[in-house]
Amino acid sequence: MTYRAPVDDIVHALKTAAGLDDLTARGLLDGVDEDTIRAVLEEAGKFGAEVLDPLSATGDRAGSKLIDGKVATPDGWKEAYQQFAAGGWGALAAPEEWGGQNLPQIVATAAGEIWNASNLAFGLCPLLTFGAIDAVEAQGSEELKKLYLPKMVSGEWTGTMNLTEPHAGSDLSQLKTRAVKQADGSYRIFGTKIFITYGDHEMTENIVHLVLARLPDAPPGTRGISLFLVPKRLVNADGSLGARNDVVCAGVEHKLGIHASPTCVMKYGEGGTGAVGYLVGEENRGLNVMFIMMNAARLAVGTQGVAVAERATQRAIAYAKERRQGRSSHSSGDGMAPIIEHADIRRSLMTMKALTQAARAICLVTASETDVARRAKSPTERAAATARVALLTPVAKAFSTDIGCEVASVGVQVHGGMGFIEETGAAQIYRDARILPIYEGTNGIQAVDLVTRKLPLEGGKVVEAYIGELAQTAEEVRRSNRPDFGRMGERLGEAVAALAEASRWMGGALRSNPEGALAGAAPYLRLFGLAAGGIYLARGALAAARSGAAGVQAQPIAVARFFAENLATAAPGLKETVVTGADSALALSA
Ligand SMILES: Cc1cc2nc3c(=O)[nH]c(=O)nc-3n(C[C@H](O)[C@H](O)[C@H](O)COP(=O)(O)OP(=O)(O)OC[C@H]3O[C@@H](n4cnc5c(N)ncnc54)[C@H](O)[C@@H]3O)c2cc1C
Repeated sequence: MTYRAPVDDIVHALKTAAGLDDLTARGLLDGVDEDTIRAVLEEAGKFGAEVLDPLSATGDRAGSKLIDGKVATPDGWKEAYQQFAAGGWGALAAPEEWGGQNLPQIVATAAGEIWNASNLAFGLCPLLTFGAIDAVEAQGSEELKKLYLPKMVSGEWTGTMNLTEPHAGSDLSQLKTRAVKQADGSYRIFGTKIFITYGDHEMTENIVHLVLARLPDAPPGTRGISLFLVPKRLVNADGSLGARNDVVCAGVEHKLGIHASPTCVMKYGEGGTGAVGYLVGEENRGLNVMFIMMNAARLAVGTQGVAVAERATQRAIAYAKERRQGRSSHSSGDGMAPIIEHADIRRSLMTMKALTQAARAICLVTASETDVARRAKSPTERAAATARVALLTPVAKAFSTDIGCEVASVGVQVHGGMGFIEETGAAQIYRDARILPIYEGTNGIQAVDLVTRKLPLEGGKVVEAYIGELAQTAEEVRRSNRPDFGRMGERLGEAVAALAEASRWMGGALRSNPEGALAGAAPYLRLFGLAAGGIYLARGALAAARSGAAGVQAQPIAVARFFAENLATAAPGLKETVVTGADSALALSA
């Protein structure tokens, strides 16, 4: 089956969770309204279904390969990429000054879901280019911006992100790649980077690498890291392409999934002269710039989690309607029932749908706060939204990618034995999904970030205010007293109360028992995602109820109620895990 972009679901989440109408009314979206967004997403959906989806399985089988020192992407990849760039899809949120369309982040995030659901291994390439554009735009010199941004925004050149080294993964303080300053103000880069996504390919004439490296006199640790722009081919002052730079791909990894995305070992300065690089931002402040790129990329990777979950859900529903086995309580006559009639399959499909929609809402809310942070007139509003983005980014990344794997796994299960056989596509989704909790900062690191950096923001006031808003919605649901809401209000009230208590405990434990706090970080993040996701779905249910929705239109009520009564019920247990589980987690010696 072909993937269909869930435009109605996305627009529903934008309106009911991400505050689309409010953003429009406040004039923050430069005239972009629901109709425009719908039109963009419908077009994105067409491109995804017609061009990208058909390449997903063939790309998985062929993979990208290193042949005679060049990386060959699967057949059709280059043409698809060129169509993608020509369609202007690479430039949705980029500034107009550099040729972009300056569309709001909510549109770029929603379109990103569609590319990645259509073809995850393809979607990764523009995802990293967007991050590179953000970093150069924010901190590059005027000269670098003029020379590189127009080509990156148009998609003529792609961008990469070079952090990881064999001995420096989560802990970048250990990185050894060297940068040596030259008399002309440029630098020469020497070192090896591993796992570099789309580190090399022939889809474009040039590739712009953003590389973390250390100057000879740099202080140790993360305070001594600088960021450099290193082009694959040097660029002359008039923008034309010059000689090959001293950077090569020395290998392409064999992986569990995303086979078509080349994961490269990159060698800088192997030729002896060093790769020519240009400083982005200030010396020794490179990690700060890279964080600009990483935060954008973390939201984008969270959205990849939503994307694989949506693809898995669509496939599982289609299969469950076709496949017949056994008899259900609805069966009539002698024939076997479609498996979608069995209670356990229905629970499975509801779980897939509800987790996907909750994660989508969290990602779109993070995107909409990003828009406020960039576009609001008042500095106070911008600062509050910036803090909200900081709080939600690790949740968007980790919750969404964790559920991406879980939903993909349920999708395999719904297919029975055929799920394990490659031809249904369920197995590929499962394999592809598994990278998402690992790259762009592992989900373990996201949980540490949430607990140690984000909860303490403004002395805990940022998280407190957020939980206060969640509690108000839970109360509104409880008070609505609608029979079709079931126990939604109660269950969400308990989930939010659990989050509040766990947050208070974390605040104290960070001071008195830091190791205990870190041991509870991952369950705390899960609890956060369940409470937030449940509340966003409930806001969708409230909106559907207000509009007198019936039939298919009332789906948001059914999904929100299912989430509250079947998934958010884990929240009080997770709170206990956070508050009382650390000692046993750490009981055995290392
Ligand atoms: C397919 C693929 C594509 C990638 N693309 C890129 C790319 O384009 N650019 C790039 O720079 N990198 C890329 N990476 C690298 C990726 O970001 C790293 O693999 C990831 O950050 C984890 O680093 P590591 O593999 O060294 O694991 P490690 O850091 O060794 O971590 C191993 C485990 O220990 C845990 N851990 C480590 N430190 C801590 C801590 N302080 N507290 C708690 N737990 C901890 C981790 O959560 C993890 O579970 C890619 C990797 C893959 C596999």
